[in-house]
Amino acid sequence: MDECDRCHKGIRGDGGIRCKGVCGRVYHKTKACAAIDEYCLQGLVNCPFLRFMCHDCVTYISNVDDALKQMLDIANSNKINICEQKSEIEELISNHNKEIAALLANNDKEIKRVVDNIKKVNREKDELIKRVEKLCTVNKEHFEKSAESLSKQREEIIQEL
Ligand SMILES: [Zn+2]
Ligand SMILES: [Zn+2]
Repeated sequence: MDECDRCHKGIRGDGGIRCKGVCGRVYHKTKACAAIDEYCLQGLVNCPFLRFMCHDCVTYISNVDDALKQMLDIANSNKINICEQKSEIEELISNHNKEIAALLANNDKEIKRVVDNIKKVNREKDELIKRVEKLCTVNKEHFEKSAESLSKQREEIIQEL
């Protein structure tokens, strides 16, 4: 014999009704135990798709429902936050990319300027080398002429003696 979960007394015959919610507990088919009246009992008999659910299970399921709704709300607001953060992050990344592109462009300009300077200095160095070489040639000619005239003078002096 089943025992009523409310009053803890035995249930005779078909005097009990089983909860089809979560608990599966059995109650007396009374207002005091199952919180069910004659009209509802008749409805349960007439409509096979109706199911009896005890007060605890109704409360439990409604609580679960509320909890699910709260979780959904939190999930939705988090989703909105994530979307906002995503667009913020995308903006940050695009700004960074722009800054990097500007830096690279500046670097290119700076490198070109340095290379141009090096080329200019090299050209000036080549010109200086040419000028020094020319000076050397001229000096050599001068020196040779002087040496020639000196040796002539020496010969003349020797002859006079
Ligand atoms: Zn009972
Ligand atoms: Zn129940």
